[in-house]
Amino acid sequence: RPFVEIDRVWMRYNGTGGTLALRNASLTVEREEFVAVVGPSGCGKSTLMRLVTGLWPASSGSVIVAGKEVDRPLSIAGMAFQNPTLLPWRSILNNVMLPFEVVEPHAGRLRRDRASYEKQCLELLELVGLKGFEAKNPWQLSGGMQQRASLCRALIHQPQLLMLDEPFAALDVFTREDLWSVLQNLWMVRKPTVILVTHDLREAAFLADRILVMTSRPGRIMIERKVELPRPRT
Ligand code: ADP
Ligand code: ADP
Repeated sequence: RPFVEIDRVWMRYNGTGGTLALRNASLTVEREEFVAVVGPSGCGKSTLMRLVTGLWPASSGSVIVAGKEVDRPLSIAGMAFQNPTLLPWRSILNNVMLPFEVVEPHAGRLRRDRASYEKQCLELLELVGLKGFEAKNPWQLSGGMQQRASLCRALIHQPQLLMLDEPFAALDVFTREDLWSVLQNLWMVRKPTVILVTHDLREAAFLADRILVMTSRPGRIMIERKVELPRPRT
């Protein structure tokens, strides 16, 4: 059975007269698959992410993750967005620690096992090239470095599902391509199921096993076609 099952989902914001953001969208994602979702601004990509992660309820249709109807924010999902959203008053290490503080069963064990949790964070930070920056505050790091830390925070609690909404869009092209490799490495180590929203077709082709193209027409948004592309082997 697929890991993510979206079946005939409609999403209308603000009730009956509101904006139609998804019209009869269906999509399945297999466990450990890396899917990229591309499409023009306003076609409903962010909405799709909110529904899968349980941040919004769908107006109708069903969203099932790991065999369960999604009816609340999913703690098995890690998320990262266009902007790093790190807490400025916390060190990089303590930002990456956040999921451990709020996601069970880690939260219950954190007081007792803090040293081992910190060790996991430091290992992950080293994997993305942030060794030595763990005690700094976010504003002491470049945008690209903050985004690396955000990826670590999204992955630290070993989420089965990684939801990425344009995580590299705000970065310059060199930093962006650098982070593609970082993400690819993280994916190969942890093998989460990934849904990545992007405007960048090259990014999608570089990273994903499968690319979904969403299109918008006046009042009508749908998933138009699926393109299977081979993943470049590294
Ligand atoms: P994308 O991420 O592809 O740019 P969105 O999912 O953000 O698209 O938006 C899809 C449609 O839903 C757009 O018409 C947008 O204006 C509308 N929309 C998005 N978020 C909200 C919201 N919170 N309230 C009302 N309308 C929204
Ligand atoms: P993207 O994900 O493409 O960066 P956003 O999700 O920020 O875009 O917003 C996409 C569109 O949805 C924008 O046109 C914005 O005006 C609209 N939108 C987002 N959030 C809301 C909201 N809470 N209420 C009304 N419109 C919203």
